[in-house]
Amino acid sequence: MYAEPRRSSLTGAGVAAATVYVGLGSNLGDRLATLQGAARQLRDGVVPGTVLVRSSPVYETRPLGPSTAEYMNAVVELRTVVEPAALLSALQGLELLHGRTRRTRWEARTLDLDILMWLPIGLPSGLPIGLQGLLLDTPGLRLPHAELERRDFVLAPLAALAPGLRPRGGASVAELLAALNAADRTIVAQVAEHLC
Ligand code: ATP
Ligand code: CA
Ligand code: CA
Repeated sequence: MYAEPRRSSLTGAGVAAATVYVGLGSNLGDRLATLQGAARQLRDGVVPGTVLVRSSPVYETRPLGPSTAEYMNAVVELRTVVEPAALLSALQGLELLHGRTRRTRWEARTLDLDILMWLPIGLPSGLPIGLQGLLLDTPGLRLPHAELERRDFVLAPLAALAPGLRPRGGASVAELLAALNAADRTIVAQVAEHLC
């Protein structure tokens, strides 16, 4: 008798599991300690239904915009069964735990967590799916992150984890990084081989 193959246990009650890349940045306080602390919390399950799988190197970068304080940046790969808006809200809660304030645009921040790309595992959950990942354009959440292609401080750590990803189906992360002009490059140094 023919038996239906079982669905992946990674997909739960209508919620698709996903691999998610999140960019971390800090240019206020003990930047490395904050980034490491947030990564450890993600690894230890501070966001329910979400685990940290891998982390990138950490880079020191010069700030874009009017801020003068240098950043540290890294990217983490998460596995989650939480929906995109709920994950963003949980990550914003983690920013607050680390003292993030939002009084003015561009202000220095202890912790910034941006969702860069969202790659559903198995069946899509009904949302529009691009060639490689979820395409979302809502007032509170855009995926892939709107500035991804222009930022070496995002592309370089992301390339360390997933160089072949094609954010909008065209050039890969590694190709986008290689194509950036020298004037747009912000990375000053690598300060750690892995965030955690
Ligand atoms: P940028 O998004 O250009 O890096 P920022 O990180 O300084 O700027 P924030 O003040 O942290 O900006 O966030 C502004 C808003 O961006 C958030 O309230 C959030 O709703 C929205 N947003 C849209 N898409 C994303 C995304 N992919 N990840 C995180 N926030 C996002
Ligand atoms: Ca940001
Ligand atoms: Ca942000």
